This record gives sequence, structure tokens and C-alpha cells, in this order.
Amino acid sequence: MSTTVETHEFQTEARQLLDLMIHSVYSNKDIFLRELISNASDAIDRRRFEALQDPDLLDEDKELSILIERDPVARTLTIHDNGIGMGRAEVIDLIGTIAKSGTKEFLEGLKESEEAVSPDFIGQFGVGFYSSFMAADKVTLITRRAGEDTATKWESAGEGTYTLETVDKDEAGTSITLQLKPSDEEDHLKDYAQEWVIREIVKKYSDFVAYPIQMEIEREEIEQDEEGKPVEGAEPKTVRKLETLNSMKAIWLKEKDETTDEELNEFYKHISHDWNDPIETIRAKIEGTLEYRLLLYIPSKAPFDLFFRDGQFGLHLYVKRVYIMDDCKDLVPEFLRFLRGVVDSEDLSLNVSRELLQQDRQVRRMRNGIVSKVLDTLKKLKDTDEEKYGIFWESFGRVLKEGIYGDQDNQKALLDLSLFASTNDPEKPISLKGYIDRMKPDQEAIYYMTGESRETVENSPHLEAFADKGYEVLVLTDPVDDVWLSAVPEYEDKKFQSAGKGEVELGSGEEQKKEEEARQEKQETYGSLLERLQKELDEYVKEVRLSSRLTTSAACLVGEAHDLSPQMEKLLGATGQAMPQQKRILEINPNHPVLEKLGAIFEKDSDASEIGDYAQLLHGQALLAEGGELPNSGKFAKLVADLMVRAL
Ligand code: ADP
Ligand code: MG
Repeated sequence: MSTTVETHEFQTEARQLLDLMIHSVYSNKDIFLRELISNASDAIDRRRFEALQDPDLLDEDKELSILIERDPVARTLTIHDNGIGMGRAEVIDLIGTIAKSGTKEFLEGLKESEEAVSPDFIGQFGVGFYSSFMAADKVTLITRRAGEDTATKWESAGEGTYTLETVDKDEAGTSITLQLKPSDEEDHLKDYAQEWVIREIVKKYSDFVAYPIQMEIEREEIEQDEEGKPVEGAEPKTVRKLETLNSMKAIWLKEKDETTDEELNEFYKHISHDWNDPIETIRAKIEGTLEYRLLLYIPSKAPFDLFFRDGQFGLHLYVKRVYIMDDCKDLVPEFLRFLRGVVDSEDLSLNVSRELLQQDRQVRRMRNGIVSKVLDTLKKLKDTDEEKYGIFWESFGRVLKEGIYGDQDNQKALLDLSLFASTNDPEKPISLKGYIDRMKPDQEAIYYMTGESRETVENSPHLEAFADKGYEVLVLTDPVDDVWLSAVPEYEDKKFQSAGKGEVELGSGEEQKKEEEARQEKQETYGSLLERLQKELDEYVKEVRLSSRLTTSAACLVGEAHDLSPQMEKLLGATGQAMPQQKRILEINPNHPVLEKLGAIFEKDSDASEIGDYAQLLHGQALLAEGGELPNSGKFAKLVADLMVRAL
């Protein structure tokens, strides 16, 4: 065998990249092992793939695996694989140059900026094999391509040149030996010749690699008898055993019939730190131009931080079974922030960074795929298991509703999934479809009322006429309801109409017409009284008119159709947005005796001072009825007391 050693120069860009690597202050140096293991796993994948065409490339008796060898004395670490290996030309091409697109431009930009290389640089950029120079002074790679007879030895200290030699190697595959730098805490260099250090890194980053990652483990063992008890007087012996460090449990790669619910739930608990089983598990294998696997979980209970601004969320991201990150937020919209699980992409780069993920088109497409999978699953759950869906909705409905205004594309689907409390059955929330099915024949709109609590909404005088007509009204008490309602005018051609805003026209029948005429007549009769009342209340209301929504109460406050609701005003106020107080409209029940009595006083003396007091009283009690706060409660109490004295 020839022993000629050839010296080659690295391509310029490759040299620059190596330079950066060697002098890097990047703190996560451990990832070099992840990179080497991932290359090894890729190479085994490729060998299996090529063997489909040429079965001779695979040795049936040999298990495909990755072997890690440590030598604490010589301070070396070797990663062996029996993957596809490389021919000599491939070594020059793949290891001596940088072919990856964008690398050149990236390095040029870096040079021009003349800024110190940020510690994050390596995390942001494809480093692969070269990352071994973060931990090694010298790297030796010996590789033999499956199907070829000779092997190639490549060696470099990373400084401008590398050497090539043709050598012998028993098996096809690649062995990469690192001459380890001394461990240095300040430089984030661990002692990579130590068993536990390697064990930990493999567990963390490569546990789900599909091939066994083995290492020889040294252990003191004492001889045991048949019952497993130590034999008396036996000396401990040092035993060396090959152990597999990774669980290889890429559970998301398994087919449906290869996993049990227990296993899936176990994995959920592992990644979510939740003690409860998930309510639903979603698994999918997406093939085509973009390939990825999904194993997603919908928890059964809301975590405590669901509504915290900086709550953790996101999915675990793997690229070709290699762990990339825990909480990839770019894969889920906020309105699905309760989702847990794993996405394993075949297409993304292993070195994809958080910064790059945000702009990545493939990531966006995966995210869309995930959203539609989850919404489909929820729809199915809603249609088939009402009880379970009810539990889900209790926990996460409020979050899901955020998507109604946040995600135009899925607005309809989200409205279909939404459930609301209504005046019909306090125990059983209803879908919009269900509401429409129950609408009265002459009913034209979907009526709703927002408020702080179910109780205040149900007791609000605004609903009286609706109750009278037997119209169902949705009772909306989540702050987010006002927000999405401002973005959605209708559902299945039925307009959303607030029971507390604008003029309401209930029904269109004969009776309705007569009522309306009577109201108009009274509106004229009492026109100047209503004006006087408005003047008295000018600070708070912009109009006083007769109501078509009251049957028993004397008065209520309403907004104009496009006004913000009082809850919305509060919400915006709480976010610090200064807003002019909106004036509302005071509606008076035309059939309430109070109108007639006030009319009589007004007729006698249109300047009578009591009218001012009664105006304040009407306004005050209308505010109280909707759960609002009085502008001046002391004054109101005094007016009530005076009134009592007069009446008693
Ligand atoms: P990447 O893995 O992103 O392509 P790397 O720098 O990690 O970039 O590796 C460069 C190339 O070198 C790989 O694409 C592969 O062709 C080759 N290579 C690296 N390690 C091995 C290995 N263990 N076996 C076979 N080929 C390898
Ligand atoms: Mg690689």
C-alpha cells in the first residue's frame, strides 16, 4: 500500500470557517458530538438506501451502528460508523471545500462587517463536521466507501492545510478521531474523554437517533450467586461491556400499530412535564415536496401559565431525528399555544437557528399544516365526543378564540369550533350552528350580549324583550369575545348583533309593526321631556330615547352599533391606551309608568327641578343594572334616600 502523504490546502472559505471555529467563543461546544453523530446516522441511512439497489453494499451480519471510543490517557475520542463512507475524491470535495450555498456570501458579509464574531454565530450557521475543531487540536478521519477496496485518511490541525493518505480499513464506513483539547471551564470545554460527559450529551441531543450509539463501559462487578446476591469474599472485577447510550425511541417514527397508548402518553408526560394524560394525540406523516412527521398532543388541563405574557410554549423540533430545540414557537400560532409534541423535519438544515426559523418558508408551511391538522382533529372530536370536547373547550376555548381575529384563514373553522353560553340552557354551551338551528322563524340576527359575568349579563335589562320573544341570546363573558366580535360581522349569512348596542328590531310581524308605531307616537309626545332629560345627563349620555328592548325595567344604557362595549373600553384602558369616555344612549321603557308620571310633572312645569333628580336616578340605576360603576355613588345614595322620604 502506498504511503505517500499528500498535503492539500483548504479552499479559502473553508479556511475562514475553520478559523472561526477554532477561535470561537461559542459556549455550546458540546454540539460537535451531535454533528458527528448526525453525520454518522446520515451515512448509515445512505448506505441502507443505496443497498436497496445494490444489496452487496450491506453486510447482512453486521448491525448498523455508531460506536464511540474514548481514550482518557491519549486524550482521544473516536466516532465510528459503518455507514456509506467516502471515496478519496469525495473526501476532498466534501471535507476540504464548502459547497453549501450561501456560505460564501455569509462569510464575505462577516468579513466586511469586521465585527467580532458573535458567540451565537455557530448556532446560526451550518457548521457540521468542522465543529469538531471546537473541541480538538487535530482531527483524523479514516473512511472507506462501501463497495471500494481502499480507504482514505484525512488529517488536519485546522490551520490552512490537510493531508491525504491512502490506507487500509477493515470495514466500510468512517472513523473520526479527535485529539481533544484540554478541558477548560472558562472556554466551555468539557472533558470529552469522560464516560459520563459523553453519556449526557448523547442522551440530550441524540437519544432518538434511530441507530444504536454504543460505547464501552467499564464497571466494577462482584460475582453473584443464583439469587443475585454477592458471593462472599469475592473480589470486585473490572468488566468492560458495550452499552447502547440512546433509547432509539423515535416514537414519532413508529407506525400506528407499533405503539401503545401508554407509550404515547408516557412520551407526552416526558416532554410536557404534565402529570395527566393528554386528551387527544395527533400523529401524521406528511410526504411530498415537504416531508415531516408530527406527534402532537392536546393536554387535558390548562397549564398555569397559559395566560401569562411570557409563558413557555412551542413544539420540540427535530431534523432527521436529531434534536434541535425544545420550544420552537414558529411552528405554532399563539392560539394553539397549549399544543405539545414533536415535529421531525426531513428538509430543514440541522443548523437552522431560531433567527432563521422565523423567516423560513418551509417552517411556515409546516406551521400551516400543523394548524389544519389540529383544527381537523378538534372538529372530529367535537362531532364524535361531545363530553370530551366540552372538557377541551373549558380549558382552551378562550385561547382558541384568539385565533378568530388573529388568523383570517382559519376564522371560519375556528368559529365552527367555538362554543358559547346562552340564555337558553345555562349548563350547556352551544355552537353557532346549533344557535342558528334553534333560531325563531322571524329572527334575523345572532344576538349576543357581552359582560363581565354570566350573572350581570343575564340580569341586564337589555335582554328583556329578547326573553319576551323567546329569542336566544349568547352570553359572552371572556374579554376576548369583544375583540373577535369587532372583527367578524357575520356567520353563515347571519349578522352578529349586540343586544346592548344600536336599535333593535325584533321580528317583522304585524304585532311588531303596531308596537313600533306606538313607540314612534310616544317618542313624539314625550320629545321635549326626553330632551330635557338628555340635558340633565349631558355629561354621560348623548341621547335619551324610548326603547324597544325593555319590557319590565324602566331604563337601560346602550351604545351605538359601532361603539366599543364597556368591557372593551375597560380592556383598552387597562393596556394604557388613553381614550375619551364614550357617551352612550339612555333608553327608557315606553310602557313603564315612570314615563307617564314624569311626563305629567314636565307638563305642569317644564323647569321642575325634580326632573333633574329623576334623570340622575334613571341613569344611575341603568348603570347598576348592567354591573357598571356609578360616577358619584354618594350623590346617588342621597337621591334614593330623598326619594324614599317623599314616597313614604
Ligand atoms: P452536512 O452534514 O450538513 O452536509 P457536514 O459538514 O456535517 O455538513 O458534512 C459534510 C459532508 O461530509 C456530508 O454531507 C457528507 O457527505 C460527508 N460526511 C461527513 N461525515 C460523514 C460520515 N461519517 N460518513 C460519510 N460521509 C460523511
Ligand atoms: Mg452534518
